[in-house]
Amino acid sequence: MERARLRKDVKKVQAKMAEMSTIDELTKLYNRRYFMEALGAEFERASRYGAEMALIMLDLDYFKKINDTYGHPAGDVVLSDIGKLLKKHVRRNDLACRYGGEEFVVILPNANKDGIYSAYERFREMVSKQPFEHGYKQFHMTVSIGIAFSNDSESADGLLIHADEALYQAKESGRNRIVTYNAKEKSAE
Ligand code: GH3
Ligand code: MG
Ligand code: MG
Repeated sequence: MERARLRKDVKKVQAKMAEMSTIDELTKLYNRRYFMEALGAEFERASRYGAEMALIMLDLDYFKKINDTYGHPAGDVVLSDIGKLLKKHVRRNDLACRYGGEEFVVILPNANKDGIYSAYERFREMVSKQPFEHGYKQFHMTVSIGIAFSNDSESADGLLIHADEALYQAKESGRNRIVTYNAKEKSAE
């Protein structure tokens, strides 16, 4: 009896550890390590089968101000809420991950250019209208989003760089918006 109970405890601990190595505690999304592995594998799969995948990179706007104004615990609540919203928003085969800090990424294994843009435009708008709460305080948040497609990239690392560049442009051009990485524009520079 005792031995069976111990074995069950060990199994539980092992399962918890496996979960901890792939799941981000605060947002309950996949963590960065899991994301990096999945990105490589999905890119490989997409190129092998001639499919196109997309990568979304999303960063909260002026998030530091939330921490400074309402406190770090309020910032944590926002991150956790965004995690829930994103999880609800993504489709079944998409992978939503916390890339780090207040940055999120979504891997979309089967990309449809127009569909993805409008879906994330809806997400961006929904976040901007959503009241976030902590204690008696209520406030609003916005997100900037970069999108890149595998057909414009040579490698998984390249795809990541392109999504990051698109996100940077979204920030630079005023935040609370989406920018799609444009390979043609780049080569014309
Ligand atoms: P920008 O619009 O340019 O993205 O500005 P920002 O303020 O969002 O970006 P910045 O990189 O200046 O600040 C990010 C902040 O996110 C700083 C850091 O303290 C905070 N942060 C990172 N991880 C966590 C976390 O787990 N919890 C909380 N509460 N804050 C975090
Ligand atoms: Mg930010
Ligand atoms: Mg950031």
